[in-house]
Amino acid sequence: MTALLIEANNLSRYYNDHCAVDDVSFSLAKGEVLGFLGPNGAGKTTTMQMLCGNLAPSSGEIRINGFDLLDQPKQAKQCLGYLPDTPPLYKELTVNEFLTYCGRLHGISFKQIKHAIDLAKDRCGLEQVANRLITNLSKGYQQRVGIAQAILHNPKIIILDEPTVGLDPIQIKEIRALIKELGQNHGIILSTHILSEVQESCSHVQIINQGQLILKESIACLNQRMNTGRIKVSTRSTMNLDHFSDINNIHTIEELSNNSYLFHHDISNNPIELIAEKIVNAGWGLLELSPVKQSMEEIFISLTSNKDSA
Ligand code: ADP
Repeated sequence: MTALLIEANNLSRYYNDHCAVDDVSFSLAKGEVLGFLGPNGAGKTTTMQMLCGNLAPSSGEIRINGFDLLDQPKQAKQCLGYLPDTPPLYKELTVNEFLTYCGRLHGISFKQIKHAIDLAKDRCGLEQVANRLITNLSKGYQQRVGIAQAILHNPKIIILDEPTVGLDPIQIKEIRALIKELGQNHGIILSTHILSEVQESCSHVQIINQGQLILKESIACLNQRMNTGRIKVSTRSTMNLDHFSDINNIHTIEELSNNSYLFHHDISNNPIELIAEKIVNAGWGLLELSPVKQSMEEIFISLTSNKDSA
């Protein structure tokens, strides 16, 4: 069985009588990159702060790598690396100076600190800028420094709050690749408003709305959920639709335009291969055959609006 790095059980947090996080439970295993999604005010930051030990839950239990965060905070926090949404950088220091300072805060011995810094710089692509002042680095590089300080002590768990906000597309791509790579040997939780980021970087997703978890599943299941039971088909010459009558799981064929159709099928039984085979065998000139997917935005809106109307 995979050892769990985070176990959050029945977490709640009240601000006076306002319930910001309401009976939330989830876990994180090694090798998982968990995307934490939710609209503004949903309770993401409150949850992340509780996981990092910066905010006490009103009720519930958090175990970090088996250590109870309230009873054994030191051992638990040693397993955590945290990048807040605004990286906590001393910009008047060079990258080397800043990472040395962070290494000492993390309790890394003088003997091991150089090796730890070299490793973090290597993983975050910071070797070339090691002696530059952080203030003079681009936002993408500053974010890398923020990630480097979070992984310096080689924590089992990395918590990243909005790690790609404000970066340009190339920087976003680089940081996502880094997250994926780190995810192989660590457990990662990242919060984001960018829905496609979850598909790009994460193995699992959970959505929080009004303090409650409303979805918790793997990206594979999410992709399944995106299935609409429709396939768009376009051909060069006109098809004889009777040819498809023996495919039981096709419900209807809707004409969109000349030689372009929407096949409605059983959602659990995709006939795409059979459709392709028939078109190719009949020589109708297959131009397009694409499953129509529900977007992540549509799933998000339907889940959060269901909750609102409940
Ligand atoms: P998110 O990170 O998803 O935007 P937050 O966890 O910041 O959500 O906030 C969840 C809810 O708790 C919101 O309604 C917010 O207004 C409220 N809240 C957050 N921090 C405080 C605080 N320190 N005092 C009172 N209410 C707060």
